[in-house]
This record gives sequence, structure tokens and C-alpha cells, in this order.
Amino acid sequence: MESIYCQGCGAKIQTSNPESAGYTPKSSLAKENILCQRCFRLKHYNEVQDVSITDDDFLEMVSSIRKTEGLVVHVIDIFDVDGSLIKSLPRIIGDNPIVLVGNKIDLLPQSTNKRRLTQWLKSQAKEAGVTVSDVFLISSKQGHGIQTLTHQLEDYRAGRDIYIVGTTNVGKSTFINRLIKETSGENDVITTSYFPGTTLGFIEIPLDNKTSIIDTPGIVNKQQMVHYVSDKDVKLITPNKEIKPRVYQLNSSQTLFFGGLARLDFIKGDQSSFVCYFSNQLPIHRTKLENADALYENHVGDLLSPPNAKTLENLPRLTKSTYRITGDKTDIVFPGLGWVSIAGAGATVIVHSPKGVAISVRKSLV
Ligand code: GDP
Repeated sequence: MESIYCQGCGAKIQTSNPESAGYTPKSSLAKENILCQRCFRLKHYNEVQDVSITDDDFLEMVSSIRKTEGLVVHVIDIFDVDGSLIKSLPRIIGDNPIVLVGNKIDLLPQSTNKRRLTQWLKSQAKEAGVTVSDVFLISSKQGHGIQTLTHQLEDYRAGRDIYIVGTTNVGKSTFINRLIKETSGENDVITTSYFPGTTLGFIEIPLDNKTSIIDTPGIVNKQQMVHYVSDKDVKLITPNKEIKPRVYQLNSSQTLFFGGLARLDFIKGDQSSFVCYFSNQLPIHRTKLENADALYENHVGDLLSPPNAKTLENLPRLTKSTYRITGDKTDIVFPGLGWVSIAGAGATVIVHSPKGVAISVRKSLV
């Protein structure tokens, strides 16, 4: 087949993978002006849809941002900061400023300290080498913080384009669909490719006569927990409503399993409370430390699930790290899953998580 490019975004048209850039159903190939499905939906329904590409392709295409002047809005999932923060972003985009947007705050318990969360996001970004001009907390789904953000973006962009970047599943499409509602009228919002002749897959939503919001495809980060579980289990581990903390009073030598995806051993310390913030559907199992290894061996994939028997094959083995809780109430964060808040000063815990999914520790948010 001769290569055809989408009239909207410039992505190379393909008919095999609906989740990748440039997809269009075979039946549309007969049309005169071919659009990929993403551009078609944007044009006719004013709605963006996710597509994804690999890290390398992304690097190549987003590097074109380097050569332009724009504001980069990096959307991340506050439940998966490590998995959704694009550490290579500064290299990719050059000197353009970055605004960090933490999405999905509607899932946090009401009592969450937002200021502390903002601080933590800022420090996580900094640690990863990503310097940000500002941090905002929003819920694309419920609309919290969207208006404030839209106003502030107007200032930050100072007449330039806005590039929206993020890994898959952070809620980038939901966010852009909100922005479209906030900023555009009734007109068809899609315009033609910003970088003609290249297979970019960027789509543009005009802000005014000169500038646009530019949606870039989501990057797949292989280390995100969601890639290790089935689609059904993604629904289970991803919180879909406000998290209800589950409290366990543990003595030392007790263990908690979070499905079969992560584990926490309370090794040493006085009895203390372990407050678990995970999707309300994720099963948590308490057991004695001495039985924990055998339980995992025999029951990961059934009693300790997700993963299931099939996705277990893809799950990297669990690796351990040890933490000693000092002074303040501390959160042990399992990227993509949730966190456990521990009050007991002096407690020692061992945390198990799939190799490559990096645990982090912070001052408690709640
Ligand atoms: P994308 O892959 O980054 O474009 O992500 P989507 O916009 O498709 O969203 C991924 C999932 O997260 C969907 O199930 C959305 O409903 C959900 N989601 C997006 N934004 C929010 C939010 O602010 N709060 C909650 N609770 N869920 C959200």
C-alpha cells in the first residue's frame, strides 16, 4: 500500500492497530480526504481520543518541540508519579518551560494535605531532573481546578502554543476534552498538521488565530504497573472513586499483601497503625510474616490477585527494600497502586514491589 498521511495530524495512516497513531478503519480508506480516527472524532465530535506510541518514536517526534517556542503542560497521575513522570522531558523539549499538572485529585480522601502533595510533586520532579515552573492539582473528570489552571496557562503561555504531553492513562484525553469545552466554540476544532511532511500524530486545537493547544500521543512507559496486569485488573487497581482508607493495627512480624502485586512486612517496632490508601476493590491480605513466603509461593495469582494465573507470567519478580520510619508519619508509596501511611516512629518495614517499579517515601499527606 502506498503511504497515506492523515490530513489532520500528519500521522501515517494504518488500519491494523486502533490504539496507535494513524489508525483508521479500512472502510474509510475510500474517502477523498482521509483522517485518522482520532482526528475524525475531534473534527466531528470535538473530542480527543488516546493513542499511544513507544518511547523512541515519542522522543523523535516530540523533539520537534525543541525547535519551536511553546509552553509544555505535563500531565501526570498523582497515583503513579514515578510511572507517569517523563524523566527525559527536559532533554526532549529544550528550553521551553514546563507546567506540571497532577491529575485525579478527586480520588484522594478529603483530608489530604494538598499543599504537601504539591510540594512532594515538585520535589519528585526535581529529583528526576525535571524543573517545573509551577504545579497544579486538578481532576479532569470532576473539573476541580480546571478553571484556575486555564487562567494561569493563559499567563504562562504568553501568546505561545501549548503542548500537552503525558504517558498513557494519566487522563490526558479527559483533560484536553475539558480544555476544549472551556476554550472553543462550536466550530470544527481540528486544523492541519503543524509540522507538514512528518509523521507526527500531533493534533491541534486552535486557541485563537495564531496559537493552538497541541495534543501529543501518550507515551507508553513499560514500568507502569498497568502493563503488568490484565485490562480487567487495571480497572480493579485503578481507583474510580474517592479512596476509603483501610486501617490495620499490626504487631511486628506481620505482613500485608496488596493483591499479589506488592507486600509490606512489619519487621520491628511497637504495635502501630498502617493506613492503606488503595483502590477500594484491591484485596488486602494480612498474614504472619513467617507464613508470608509460602502464602505467596502457593497463592499468587489466585488468593493473592491481581495478577491472575496468566498475567503472572509477565509480572517481574518482587524485589525488597528496607525502610526505617523516623519521627513523622510517613507514606510508603507504591507507584500505580497507592500508599501506606505509617505512624509508628522507629518501625522497620520491608517493602516488596515488582522489579522496576520504584517505591518512594514521603511525609504523610493525610
Ligand atoms: P489518557 O490515556 O492519558 O488519554 O487517559 P484518559 O483520558 O483516557 O483517562 C484514563 C482513565 O483515567 C480513564 O478511565 C478516565 O476515566 C480516568 N480519568 C481521567 N481523568 C480522571 C480524573 O481526573 N479522575 C479520575 N478519577 N479518573 C480520571
